[in-house]
Amino acid sequence: MLDMAQIEALRAAPVADRDHLVDGRSFSPTSGQRLDVETPIDGSVLTTMARGDATDVEAAVSAARRAFADRRWRGLPAARRKAIMARWADLIEAELLELTVLGVRDNGTEIAMAIKAEAASAAATIRYYGEAIDKMSGEIAPTPDNRLGLVHREPVGVVGTIVPWNFPLMIGAWKLAPAIAAGNSVVLKPAETASLALLRLAELAHEAGLPDGVLNVVTGLGGEAGAALAASSDVDVLVFTGSGATGRKLLQASAESNLKRVYLELGGKSPNIVFADAPDLETAAEAAVNAVFRNSGQVCVAGSRLLVERSIHEEFIERLRSRADRMRVGDPLDPETQIGAVNSQSQLHANLKAVAQAQEDGARVIGGGQRLLESSGGYYMQPTIIADVALAHRLFQREVFGPVLAVTTFDGEAEAVALANAGPYGLASGVWTADLARAHRMVMAIKAGVVHVNTYGGTDITVPMGGQKQSGNGYDRSLHALDKFQNLKTAWIAID
Ligand code: NAD
Repeated sequence: MLDMAQIEALRAAPVADRDHLVDGRSFSPTSGQRLDVETPIDGSVLTTMARGDATDVEAAVSAARRAFADRRWRGLPAARRKAIMARWADLIEAELLELTVLGVRDNGTEIAMAIKAEAASAAATIRYYGEAIDKMSGEIAPTPDNRLGLVHREPVGVVGTIVPWNFPLMIGAWKLAPAIAAGNSVVLKPAETASLALLRLAELAHEAGLPDGVLNVVTGLGGEAGAALAASSDVDVLVFTGSGATGRKLLQASAESNLKRVYLELGGKSPNIVFADAPDLETAAEAAVNAVFRNSGQVCVAGSRLLVERSIHEEFIERLRSRADRMRVGDPLDPETQIGAVNSQSQLHANLKAVAQAQEDGARVIGGGQRLLESSGGYYMQPTIIADVALAHRLFQREVFGPVLAVTTFDGEAEAVALANAGPYGLASGVWTADLARAHRMVMAIKAGVVHVNTYGGTDITVPMGGQKQSGNGYDRSLHALDKFQNLKTAWIAID
């Protein structure tokens, strides 16, 4: 149970101006420039943070390189490294509500979701990869009799990390924890509209005993601090979650600098497919609205394209509409709220524009579509259901990243697969059917990183998450994520 009095006290707490974190210390921006940090709850300014530039990024990358070269972290015994990561997770859990509320004030996610998805999930992730530290080993290759092939796993060096604002702690931890567990140093550039909680997370790492320079944070704008990190020739690996447009720029920056490895987790327009033989249409409808409206639709795996078999189409839309109408939109710090604030004014405008475009293209708004609570100064939007969305419509093809559900009808399995696989993305998907053989056929036919069957969302750190097609080229979560942060080196030894 969330304690309202505690939440209210934390809501009112002033937030100190924030600088970068470099080499274990607070680091003022060299240029002296700062950015206002606005809360989407009411549009007011919470605090300011450093506006990083190439000089600041260079200082952070140099600190990371020194820490790596000095073996400050990878040189520690495995048991010590494990204990530090476990302590880091403990400290996050001890500050769970403080971190969660700080994050919500910064990015607007409803606390009912953030309390599980953010700090708690980051702690679990850090614990998971900390535990893996003494379980990573190389291989002995099946080589000819007179040679011994040993495959070593080595940390790559300096990892640049650029993350978005929708789940900063969860996604941040998916990158930081395996990178650090594998023995690297990191420079993190959080999103400009969600930096505060990640700065605190990094401070807690130092309180837990992480050596200086192993985790550095540079705040600022994507086109400035982010671009400088991508362009740095002293960064060995760049891991990114965000939009495809930015992903393309990062690949270019790599090509024009040191050919650093670049791993991208990008957007989606994920199909959630409801067959007439779904085991329980009530459960499917409940899951469908949650899959696209929670966190105001700002979820990369959101089931934003609902494909419904024609025979149940009208009935199912009615179920969706009645649920969406009842969802509580508003103050993200109220534990009863189901849909909090849209992250920024520009994102709100983009959402409303997508609704207008859908109407221009001939689709039908059957619920929502409007801004809410404008007098609060915050950015809120109704859960929006749009029916009759056709393959050629912009709403079918493009990610909105807002509370907007596109509904399309299909006839039979073959059309469901064709529609599901249309468009540039391949991140997530869902299938609702009681036919086991059909479920397996769909899992094999759909081009996506995850196919949920008779459920949607809520997967776990133990399973990989990554996109196919233009949704990405890497994997977060699970032990597979460690591969991004390691080099394989072969020792080929004569033994005759
Ligand atoms: P974005 O690409 O605009 O920003 C993401 C990050 O990149 C931010 O930190 C930003 O400052 C930085 N950035 C922006 N321009 C940059 C540049 N030129 N050089 C370097 N860095 C730059 O994306 P966003 O709007 O913050 O996030 C939403 C997108 O992220 C959506 O497309 C969403 O689907 C995607 N996303 C994907 C996943 C996933 O796991 N696949 C998870 C969450 C979000």
